Amino acid sequence: MRSEQLAIFAPLYLRKLGGEIPAGRVVVHNQVRPTRRLGSRGFRAWLAEPSERLVLCGCDWAPELGEHYRVKEEILRAAIARVLPPDGVDEDDDAA
Ligand SMILES: [Zn+2]
Repeated sequence: MRSEQLAIFAPLYLRKLGGEIPAGRVVVHNQVRPTRRLGSRGFRAWLAEPSERLVLCGCDWAPELGEHYRVKEEILRAAIARVLPPDGVDEDDDAA
């Protein structure tokens, strides 16, 4: 399943804001335009270990959290390229 493969980036979605951020973790959100309501319109945020896959995000989502991060675009693009087949080699659905 594609969504499950993409979920390697998001092991623990935050359900709400305001919880304590554990030591050694940072808040990361996905590439969907941030909204205050987690889960709304596909927006997700989660805790992750600091990683070179992440970049500091400068958007104004949840300033009370302090710094937060997002996944580097090149990492996202590479992940999507692995999950989605290149054009023209999709399943043969002419069978019907
Ligand atoms: Zn942000």
